Amino acid sequence: MDLLEARGLVKIFGKLTALNGADLAVAENEFHGLIGPNGSGKSTLMKCVAGAEIPTSGTVTFGGRDISRASPAERARAGMSLKFQITSVLPALTLYDNILLALQAQTSLPRLVFSRTRGILHDRAMAMLEQFRLVDRAADPASALSHGQQQWLEIAMALAPEPKLLLLDEPTGGMSLEERRVTGELLQPIKKRCSLVIVEHDLDFIRDICDRLTVLDQGGVLDCGSVQHIQSSARVQEVY
Ligand code: ADP
Ligand code: MG
Repeated sequence: MDLLEARGLVKIFGKLTALNGADLAVAENEFHGLIGPNGSGKSTLMKCVAGAEIPTSGTVTFGGRDISRASPAERARAGMSLKFQITSVLPALTLYDNILLALQAQTSLPRLVFSRTRGILHDRAMAMLEQFRLVDRAADPASALSHGQQQWLEIAMALAPEPKLLLLDEPTGGMSLEERRVTGELLQPIKKRCSLVIVEHDLDFIRDICDRLTVLDQGGVLDCGSVQHIQSSARVQEVY
């Protein structure tokens, strides 16, 4: 059974059909890339999965549970994390405080009064900063980071509550080539504990890190399969 199964998603905005019966299936510990031309429905599909948009029709199951009508907060508690959605960087706060806030947002308040919990949160915050090569900057305000580092901090914040599924919509937007390469490296270790759906324009980047790809076109799935399968897909080549 897949961790995430979105079936027959339709999303209509007024006269515009953004999703036209799209499917997306992601296994545990799978890195899944979502690609397609501008306006093909990638962001809308991600939002329907995360609960930021409610599909006109279709279902989303997560861990075997139908969450089609669940709120974004309920989905977060079930183990989904979307960069930007649950938390975002507060520029005046230090990196450490930003991470701590992201962690606390996912921890029930009464438990925080126990110092043991605070110790666990501290260790976890430092581990996340370490993993994203930001530990030297822990006491700096987030506004002092480069654009790429801010993106890494946001990914670290999304990962801090230890989600089962991380959703990243174009996380390398505006990054230099070198920052993109590092992003790929930084994402690798999370595979042991989490699945990933990542929307990307850069095919070279995505094929290096993903196990499978889904290609959207005009709101529907053009093709889905291994990177090799997609690269040799005649249907995909027609569009790209
Ligand atoms: P992608 O992320 O693949 O570029 P989107 O999912 O953002 O595509 O958009 C798919 C289509 O739906 C586009 O034509 C876009 O203009 C439209 N769309 C997306 N969100 C909205 C909205 N909130 N209201 C109206 N139209 C929307
Ligand atoms: Mg988009």
